[in-house]
Parts: sequence; C-alpha cells; structure tokens
Amino acid sequence: MTRLVDLSPEAFAAHLTSLGRRRAYFVHDGGVVRSSHPELAEIATHLLGDDRDYHRHEGVFLEVGATTGALFGAFVHNTTRGQGQGGLRYWPYVDLASFLSDGLRLSHGMTRKSALAGLWWGGGKGLIARHVDHPYHDVGFRERLYTDYAAFVAGLRGCYITAEDAGTGPADMAVVHRGTRFVTCTPPAVGGAGNPSPATAKGVVCAMEGALAHLGLGDLAGKKIVMQGTGNVGSAMIGELVQRRVGSILASELSPARREQLAREFAGAPLTVVPAEPGDNRILAEPCDILAPNALGGVLNPDTIPGIQARIVCGAANNQLLDDVRDGEALRARGIVYVPDFLCNRMGIVYCANEQYGIVPNDPAIERHYGREWDNAVFVVTRRALELAERENITSAAAANRLADALATEPHPIWGHRARAIITGLVADGWAG
Ligand code: NAD
Repeated sequence: MTRLVDLSPEAFAAHLTSLGRRRAYFVHDGGVVRSSHPELAEIATHLLGDDRDYHRHEGVFLEVGATTGALFGAFVHNTTRGQGQGGLRYWPYVDLASFLSDGLRLSHGMTRKSALAGLWWGGGKGLIARHVDHPYHDVGFRERLYTDYAAFVAGLRGCYITAEDAGTGPADMAVVHRGTRFVTCTPPAVGGAGNPSPATAKGVVCAMEGALAHLGLGDLAGKKIVMQGTGNVGSAMIGELVQRRVGSILASELSPARREQLAREFAGAPLTVVPAEPGDNRILAEPCDILAPNALGGVLNPDTIPGIQARIVCGAANNQLLDDVRDGEALRARGIVYVPDFLCNRMGIVYCANEQYGIVPNDPAIERHYGREWDNAVFVVTRRALELAERENITSAAAANRLADALATEPHPIWGHRARAIITGLVADGWAG
C-alpha cells in the first residue's frame, strides 16, 4: 500500500480533499505529535521518526489552495523568541516526504538564523508545492495562488509570518499583503522595506572582515576574492568590496546580460567576470584569500572541497554545505575557515523582519549589525563562533549552532512564548475542521 508521504504533493492534496478536508495540522505536544485527523496519523509517525529534520516542531500546517488546489505548508519550529518567521518557497517537490523535510529543515534553520542575529523572532518557513501544470509565469495565476496563500497565512493567526524566498518575489508579497497582515519583505509601495539584497551583501562582507580578523590577516584591502554568482547579492557585494579596496575580484556568472552590466558598472575596478554554465563549480577551485559562494546551495561537497584553494569561505548562498556535518568537517580538516551561511547572510531577514515598526533612514537597529561595538554585530558574532570552534575543536557550523541554540531558549522579553498559545488556540478552535 502506498504511504501518504510517498504521494506527490498534488496527489496528497487530492487525497485530503477526498476526505472532505482542506486543512491538516501536526502539532507537537509533550513528546508526541498530534494530527488533526486520525486518517493522517501515519504522517505524525513519519515526522516523529525523522531524526534528521524533525526537531519537535511546534506545528506543521497544511492547506489546499481554494482556487488552485496547490498544497501550502507552514512549518513552525520554535517560537520561544517570537512568532515563527521565514520566507515562502515556491518549489517543485516529488513527494510529500521531500516537501515535509524541506519545510522542517528550513524552519529549524530560521530559528537559528534569527536567534543568532539577536532578532525577537522564532523559526518558520512557508512552502507552496509547484506543479508542472502551474502556469507560474502567468500574472493571473500568481494572483490567485497568492490570494489563496494569504488566506492560509491569515488563518494561522500570526504563529507564522511569511516573506519572500526562492521562487517568490516582492510582487507576490504585495498580493499576500492584501490578504494578511502576517507578511514582511513587502515592497515600499505598501510600506515595506524593499529589496534586502544590498543589506545581505554588506553583512557578508562584515563576516569576511570578522574571519580575516580571527586569522590575524588584517582587513580586506589588497585581498583576492573569488565569487560564484553575481546576482542581486553578488553584484552588491562587488560594490562593497571595491569600496574596501580589495586587490582583485574574480567572479563567475551565468547571465551574459549581468556580465555586461557589471563590466559597465565597474569599469576600471579590479574585477573580472567569467562565464559559467548551470552547475558549473570550476570557479570554486581558483586560488584566493576568500571564496564567496553567492549562487546556489550544496556547492561545498566531496567533489568541490578537495579543490578549494581559499583560506576563508564566506558567501551569501543558503545551505552551502551539502551535508552539514561531513562537509563542515572536510573543510576544517583542510584548514579552511568556513563562515556558516546562516550567520553571514542574516541581513536579508534582519533588513525586513521589523518593517512593521516603520522605516527609518540609516536605521540604527539595522546599522548596528554592520559595526563592531554591538555584541550581536555580524563581525563580532563571526569572531565569537570561529573562536568557539577553535577552542572546542568543533566545526564552525557546530559552534554557530551551539550559540544559536542557547539564544533560541530565551523567551521574547514582552510577549513570552505567545505563538505557542496561538497554536494551542488553533487546535482548540478546530482549525482543520
Ligand atoms: P540571484 O538569483 O539574484 O543570483 C544568483 C546568481 O547566481 C544569478 O545571477 C545566477 O545567474 C548565478 N548563478 C547560478 N548558478 C551559477 C553557477 N553555477 N555559476 C555562476 N553563477 C551562477 O540570487 P540572490 O538574491 O543574489 O541570492 C544569492 C544566494 O544568496 C541564494 O542562495 C539566496 O538564497 C541567498 N540569499 C539571498 C538573500 C537576499 O537578500 N537576496 C538573503 C539571504 C540569502
């Protein structure tokens, strides 16, 4: 018999609908996972048995979009520090098991990213399963999809706050914003903070400086930087690095238009941008002081790590290590200092996480992350994590996780563990019908 988690997301959505349901939840409660409907108990068992990605997530909520039939997920990991926040990924998944594990893994990561950034937010993540039949470039379709999704988020009463992520953009968030207040990273036209990429780039550069200081290698002036991907973050990073008088930047990029634009924008700067093909990782083996993976995740793996000739790896891409433990250890064994991605790329979320408190030019609540005074600044936390790793003889990822996990136990100073109470209320009120 086919297990429910082996169904495609679309088949699972159809199955749920055939049961006369549009919603389902799986809530962690005293060591057990309670499912909204007895027919779905095997999914609760699957979650509990998932030692890798399930970390006693407070709630997993699923809904079938009213007009599109798409499967939505909201994954709420730990809300001790505040509401579960994390972007919405619109992505294809082969089965429900991979949909669940991606949401669980990413929301767990968001608990750590926000805690380590000193934000009063918990960890969450949104997913929409993209189906081959979705006309996802069609504006009308996206309008319906995100209107449905907004209704889903609104129904969760604020235990999860959404934002943009892979496959979604500011225009989509503007649609979501029409249907729910529980969204950040909205465009300035609706009062949001706008594009976070320049902030992300600046944060990564602060982390590079922290790693150089840790190794006693001075500042960025004169250093050789190698970069994979010059998109929204990478191109802004080039500007930051040029300002700091780096010796040279060698970057690879798929898009000819982007390469031409950079050649015009940085004419006279010590920048070389070379073409690349999808999946092309040759640039990672170029000798340099700092290697910045700024394109896709999973690029630090057994195929690439032996060839890396950098002292430091510090870039914007999420989930750079294909396997957190194995590949973190492999970098350490080679004496390469790796700045964990969720530490150095935090400014994307920091930039827009608190936009509901209003927009201030040169916002001190954001600027302090770029300095060296504040205890939670990117530079300071980078050094702290690298020092801990060295002292304890552990990987930098393990050290950053340890720091983040300790911070994640601190309750929100005003609201305490309120999102947990929201979840309890949803269950009590029969959210799933
Ligand atoms: P983007 O899509 O604008 O840029 C990625 C660039 O990488 C594209 O220009 C693409 O052509 C290029 N690319 C892809 N594969 C490549 C390859 N093999 N070789 C060379 N170039 C390649 O994305 P972005 O917003 O700049 O984000 C970059 C990474 O940083 C992503 O992993 C993203 O998840 C992460 N991130 C971004 C932010 C943000 O604020 N935008 C925040 C946190 C993390």
